[in-house]
Amino acid sequence: MKNNEPQPAWMEEPLGNIERIELLNVSLPFVAPFGTSVATWNSKDALLVRLEADGVVAWGECVADPDPYYAGETTGTARHIIKDFLLPELKPGLSLAGLLERCRRVRGNEMAKAALENALLDLIAKRRSLPLHALLGFPSRRIMSGISIGFQDDVPALLAQVQEAVERGYHRVKMKIGRGRDVEWVRAVRERFPALALMADANGDYSLEDAALLARLDEFKLTMIEQPLAYHDIYQHSLLQARLRTPLCLDESIHGCDDAAAAIALKGCRVINIKQGRVGGLLEAVKMAGLCAGHGLPAWSGGMDETGIGRALNIQLQAAPGFTLPGDTSETRRYFREDIVEPPVILDREGYIAMPAGPGIGVAVVEERITNYLLGREKLR
Ligand SMILES: [Mg+2]
Repeated sequence: MKNNEPQPAWMEEPLGNIERIELLNVSLPFVAPFGTSVATWNSKDALLVRLEADGVVAWGECVADPDPYYAGETTGTARHIIKDFLLPELKPGLSLAGLLERCRRVRGNEMAKAALENALLDLIAKRRSLPLHALLGFPSRRIMSGISIGFQDDVPALLAQVQEAVERGYHRVKMKIGRGRDVEWVRAVRERFPALALMADANGDYSLEDAALLARLDEFKLTMIEQPLAYHDIYQHSLLQARLRTPLCLDESIHGCDDAAAAIALKGCRVINIKQGRVGGLLEAVKMAGLCAGHGLPAWSGGMDETGIGRALNIQLQAAPGFTLPGDTSETRRYFREDIVEPPVILDREGYIAMPAGPGIGVAVVEERITNYLLGREKLR
């Protein structure tokens, strides 16, 4: 965000020799398909960044999908941007702060930037034998859990999914909504679970002309409605928010702290979903959480159905103050039969998730398993 803020010392130290830089494409099958108003995915196809330096192996995960249905970026565009525009800026003797400054002239492409930045943060933390949350200056804490339930074939199937989440101890349940699958679906869940912390995510499926329909959701006391209007809009959300009692939350529209500041000033939302991958990485996400806290806005960490690498990054991030609401961080088994990291994410008896204690991302990447899911591997340096 601002360049004149004091940087921690490690931001200014040379990144040193990085002997090997690789991009890996993996495809991990989901336990069950994940459907939103925009698309349905059967697997997590992720682009991973692998760095090797002084015997340390560090990882980043790009949250982009192979398709442009959630965001404009894809795993393919991220590869292009990392390979042809970001990595060429990584010159000997440069610090992380120096690299990020050089990369600022690359506009947009926050998911590509986040993948590289997060891998470098993992490297810096591992060299210091520190977990990422400690490198960033935040003490360990257990975090709240939340689950995002994709579209189901019918209402009984949805109720069964919610029931399972409630029994498992999740702190909040998010259900997807879209045109034709909204008021009656939410009503069914609310009638069965009157006290549940429940929210609905439309992934941009409505327009301002649907304001009266969306206002009908007010009676269900949702904690929030996420991104009801267009994926790039802030202003029309402010007009809609003025007509609803239910708080609006922005996701797709927010690509950095400037967007968040605009949304807050316009009263376009009362909550922000901070996806570190969507806003350019952990450093911007931490700043955004601080910005939200400074304005009294609750915020939470959103998920992109990441592999264990991205999931671990999201957990480390939530040590930062400002993440006041349960996010999208769920148990590994909800997504994958086998993940590429150990240990998997599990909930404790009270539904919380422990912060892993290992260095860097805190979990161990099992490279032998990656082989099982590998689509391609490219050595860039
Ligand atoms: Mg969302």
